[in-house]
Amino acid sequence: MKTLLHMQGLTKEYGKEKAVDDVTFSLNKHTSTALIGPNGAGKTTILSVLAGLLKQTKGSIVFDGEITEDFRKGIGFLPQYPKFYSWLTALEYTEMTAKLSGVDVKIARLEAEKTLEFLGLGDAKKKKTGTFSGGMKQRLGLAQAIVHKPSLLLLDEPVSALDPIGRREILNLLKELQASTTILYSTHILNDAEEMMDQLLFLRKGKLVEQGSMREVREKYANPVYKMYFS
Ligand code: ATP
Repeated sequence: MKTLLHMQGLTKEYGKEKAVDDVTFSLNKHTSTALIGPNGAGKTTILSVLAGLLKQTKGSIVFDGEITEDFRKGIGFLPQYPKFYSWLTALEYTEMTAKLSGVDVKIARLEAEKTLEFLGLGDAKKKKTGTFSGGMKQRLGLAQAIVHKPSLLLLDEPVSALDPIGRREILNLLKELQASTTILYSTHILNDAEEMMDQLLFLRKGKLVEQGSMREVREKYANPVYKMYFS
């Protein structure tokens, strides 16, 4: 399997505190990986470095075979708390983010419309984002993350604030995206996402303490989630 991303020895310090401490892992193309860990484990910090929002203190990232600072357009990021600009319509917002992500201005509107349609927001595209429910907002967040067709999709706790129906909707959409996209999915607990993950990365206090396929981790621990919390 081809590697899309390799992170080598990534460390991020805030003053004396190491939020991320010497983390190394690879993501193969068209696989889905859960980055799992309790509050403060360093999940958001890792995603923010990959999304280009933070600069690492040490370590390197190779994306699609290159060590470069210029891979961001190949990455889509759904932050834990996206900002939607309540005065914009869903279409205006998605078109704007498409342009910011490098989509040709001539086709940005069309790509935004297609993306909103795919996410079940076609009928709501002319509505102001401030009127959206939590579930709709999360699908809109996904719209800005995928409108430029990234090869790597970073998702920061994408379903933790949603009710069971909203969770199921997002997970079904992610399953559709799985075949064409590499996914890195941060979460406190695997829960419903377990069914779609190929690889697990367990993070605790900034360190990668365990990694493997779902089967490998299952064989190692009766319940990997509880093992992590209580060991
Ligand atoms: P959560 O599940 O609560 O979102 P997380 O696993 O995403 O947690 P991070 O948000 O990456 O964890 O935080 C990792 C560590 O870095 C924590 O100890 C946090 O307090 C610290 N940290 C994060 N951002 C900053 C910052 N801007 N300044 C100082 N410390 C920070």
